[in-house]
Amino acid sequence: MTPDTDITGIADIVVVGAGAAGLMAAITAGRAGKRVIALDGAKKLGAKILVAGGGRCNVTHHAVDERHYAGSSPHAIRNVLGRFGVDRTRAFFAELGVELKMEDTGKLFPVSDDAHTVLDALLRAATDAGVQLRHPWRVRAVTPVAGGFEVAREGEPASLRATRVILATGGKALPRSGSDGGGYEIARALGHTTTPRILPALVPLTLPADHPLRDLAGVSFAATLTLRASSAKPLAEFTNAVLLTHFGLSGPGPMDISRHVLSARLDDPTVTLSMNLAPGLSPQQLDAALLSTRGLSVLKWLTNALPRAIAVPGHAAPGLPERLARLICSHANVDPASLVTSLSRGHRLALVDAITRHPLPVSGDRGFTYAEVTAGGVPLSQVHLDTMESRVCHGLHLCGEVLDVDGRIGGFNFQWAWASGYTAGGGAAN
Ligand SMILES: Cc1cc2nc3c(=O)[nH]c(=O)nc-3n(C[C@H](O)[C@H](O)[C@H](O)COP(=O)(O)OP(=O)(O)OC[C@H]3O[C@@H](n4cnc5c(N)ncnc54)[C@H](O)[C@@H]3O)c2cc1C
Repeated sequence: MTPDTDITGIADIVVVGAGAAGLMAAITAGRAGKRVIALDGAKKLGAKILVAGGGRCNVTHHAVDERHYAGSSPHAIRNVLGRFGVDRTRAFFAELGVELKMEDTGKLFPVSDDAHTVLDALLRAATDAGVQLRHPWRVRAVTPVAGGFEVAREGEPASLRATRVILATGGKALPRSGSDGGGYEIARALGHTTTPRILPALVPLTLPADHPLRDLAGVSFAATLTLRASSAKPLAEFTNAVLLTHFGLSGPGPMDISRHVLSARLDDPTVTLSMNLAPGLSPQQLDAALLSTRGLSVLKWLTNALPRAIAVPGHAAPGLPERLARLICSHANVDPASLVTSLSRGHRLALVDAITRHPLPVSGDRGFTYAEVTAGGVPLSQVHLDTMESRVCHGLHLCGEVLDVDGRIGGFNFQWAWASGYTAGGGAAN
């Protein structure tokens, strides 16, 4: 302790970061009878809970398993998810008075359709569990001392003492929320390493300035996006809605595949991203569909009859938006007014190619400011999975996005926060 430091509190457990994971950890430890202080650098708590799911907070997904995550090993992710599953999340929130409802995408939202319901319930539960919430209280450093840790406040000669510390500082996504990657420094100073790459995930992707898809801002459709190595081997694939914007690609499909694109490009700049506008259909199947079509112009076929073998919620009707259909025709050099039956073999195959392997020459991404999560962080191999206690620093526990785990769109990231926060809170309390 430096001579000008004031000890402003002594706790059993200090939780650094009161986001989703930190609040769950604090509630769990507080309910176990521990004196818990939860610190957050933000003036207003819960920024990410409030913006989540367009202000409705997609709390979890009805079918969560490790296949919907990336980062650390699937086995380790499954281990932690199994400690607090979706049923327990539902029961936990129901007990706090927050009923969840499932939408046809499998996502669960509060019946109020208002994220405030979720945040208010968590803050109430923390207070009821005896947790002291202090904010804005940004942590500069966590230092091991005899019998525990000293937690120093940024910019002030103040600190706290605790037997155990739970690091729940989040990642780098949406840095104005207070999650700016500072937690990685704290973890490194305590002996941890982070993955060599820390990249935006669930982030919109940009296309080159003159790319024609950028002229179709606002158009949305269903597609399968496939990332391929230069050998054409598929590296990642997602079928979901795509939203075209003035900068390129947004919506769940591009967001889901973004972390794979950004990471793979660093290993091999020749990887390619393409989309299939007839999800689930191969070029051969689509060609057969075209050959059996009678009496329709190419434009009518594309807009009213283009088949799909995989259903995408919100895109039940077959066919493409007309502006996109015209762009496909122009890409394939086919007259939209010509009859399908009059197409030459070359034109037919060019059309099939433009539909099933439409190239998306991604030029970059929108960065952490527009990312929903972070790919990378402290590897799960550095924590005991039953308590989330650090393997390198006794008494330190980690949970949430500061760890190397990122999920798909759909409530998977909050489920990770609830499960890992619960495990860390219980582990620190016991
Ligand atoms: C726009 C947007 C929408 C999203 N929508 C969804 C959704 O609908 N469903 C879903 O599952 N996921 C969603 N996510 C992702 C989800 O919000 C995160 O995965 C989740 O919030 C991570 O929880 P966390 O507690 O680990 O980190 P965070 O929520 O980032 O919380 C970390 C907290 O630590 C504090 N902090 C950081 N450093 C310090 C420090 N040095 N000292 C003190 N405090 C510190 C921060 O102020 C912050 O409050 C969304 C994310 C964004 C950005």
